[in-house]
Amino acid sequence: MKTLITNAFVLDMVGNTANIEKKDILINDNIIEKIDKCIDKDIKIDEKINAKNMLVMPGLINTHTHLAMSIFRGYKGDKKLVDWLEKAIYPVEDKLQPEDIYWNSYLSCLEMIKSGTTTCNDMYFGMNKTIEAIQDTGLRAVVGWCIKDDSIKDKIEKTREYAKKYNHDKNSKIKIYVSADAPHTCNPETMKLCVDLAKELNTGLHMHLAETMSEERKIKSRYNKRSTEYLKDLDVFDIPVVLAHGIYISDSDIELLKNIKGGISHNPVSNCRLSSGICDVVKLRKNGINIGLGTDGIGSTSTMDMFEEMKTAAYLQKVITKKPDSILPYDILKMATIDGAKVLGLEKEIGTLEPGKKADMIFIKTETIHLCPDNEICSNIVYSANGADVDSVMVDGKLIMQNRKMININEKEVMRQVKKIAKRLL
Ligand SMILES: [Zn+2]
Repeated sequence: MKTLITNAFVLDMVGNTANIEKKDILINDNIIEKIDKCIDKDIKIDEKINAKNMLVMPGLINTHTHLAMSIFRGYKGDKKLVDWLEKAIYPVEDKLQPEDIYWNSYLSCLEMIKSGTTTCNDMYFGMNKTIEAIQDTGLRAVVGWCIKDDSIKDKIEKTREYAKKYNHDKNSKIKIYVSADAPHTCNPETMKLCVDLAKELNTGLHMHLAETMSEERKIKSRYNKRSTEYLKDLDVFDIPVVLAHGIYISDSDIELLKNIKGGISHNPVSNCRLSSGICDVVKLRKNGINIGLGTDGIGSTSTMDMFEEMKTAAYLQKVITKKPDSILPYDILKMATIDGAKVLGLEKEIGTLEPGKKADMIFIKTETIHLCPDNEICSNIVYSANGADVDSVMVDGKLIMQNRKMININEKEVMRQVKKIAKRLL
């Protein structure tokens, strides 16, 4: 099947400076075949998409989520992480049923699509239902069962079973990573099991790292090490990693992280909301550490809108460095696209618009009051746009949202289901 997109202003995210030109995009099934000024209109086209007044760019990549946590939006917020988890979240999580996980994940998926995200990286429990929701909404995702010191066996078996099912299928939009919750909730035996499993399955490891000072203190008192040292000594950095947060990273930690495969997922809104701290993105990037953006779960971040993360990431770096040019709009857009793809080890497939890559892209309406005039388009996207400016979303060559309408999905029914679960459990 051939799809031709015409009249688009294409921001391909290739290279170190913004390249925006009016071009056509030819897609063959799920792969971008050609991007050119004028593609021969005589070739047989099955579907034509007129992208007049649209900016077309790679789909946004959310590198750290807990999709099933949508039910906690606004619930008992304004607390520090541990207090919030122990008092508000854990007691309810114990009661979540598989169908609850499905609908809660579904709502997060819809919110992501409606704000331009095409790929996410999720960890939680009951992930078979989250995978169903991801597949039913059409997103691409990396997924893992969150392993802690308790109930390890079942999660390891599930990870192995699903990795064998999806990781060798090059057309699968689902990829399985091993997920270890965090250094302070995974003792050396658990962490080693996770590392060995990732090696056995030839996949990566997703975990939280150095999100709060209290976690760092726990690790220090137990092992007389920093979290990063603890992981290094357990051979975690021999395999590709996605490290969520990375706030309390010292200069000696940076030396250990310099050559990791994968990278850090920066979650600025969640970090602000929980008063966790600020990741020193500028310093980490200067040291060659790859940084992507993520929302975290809705309970701590409030919204899955990656435009919020882009703005907040930019503002925080300008504030902590006191240098307005410490990070530029194009750097932020890279973090939300190609650098996020590198964090997930998917840079050969997604993250830029180039021939040979998967056709994951978003169409942003540019003829709106708050994006006028377009003196500097990347600046407009990062500082002035929001998720609702995304008009259409394509994943794997298929439009899953067009003119802000989800295709074949009853949004009202999804909201009805999640409200019912919230009423029952909260
Ligand atoms: Zn998290």
